[in-house]
Amino acid sequence: MSTVEGPWSAAGRRPAASPGQDRWTVGVDVAAPNSPWGGPAPSRLHAVGDAGLIAGRALCLAPVTLLDPALWVWPDDGDEEWPLCWVCLALTC
Ligand SMILES: [Zn+2]
Repeated sequence: MSTVEGPWSAAGRRPAASPGQDRWTVGVDVAAPNSPWGGPAPSRLHAVGDAGLIAGRALCLAPVTLLDPALWVWPDDGDEEWPLCWVCLALTC
């Protein structure tokens, strides 16, 4: 009987030293919701926790596409083009 080691095992985990989670993976809406006045609303950035990485869901449970954590930082990368999801923002503050 052998143990299979994968990239998801200990090597890829953050050290447990920091209490709570202070860094979030950033995701963007899979499909932009239509705004009430018609036409697509701008895609929003969402915060994704550890559980959401597997499910592809943000903290607000919206389906998201994960963005490169080396290029996107939650919540600093929000602007007019990429507004932040206020639900995720509330959950991470
Ligand atoms: Zn969200």
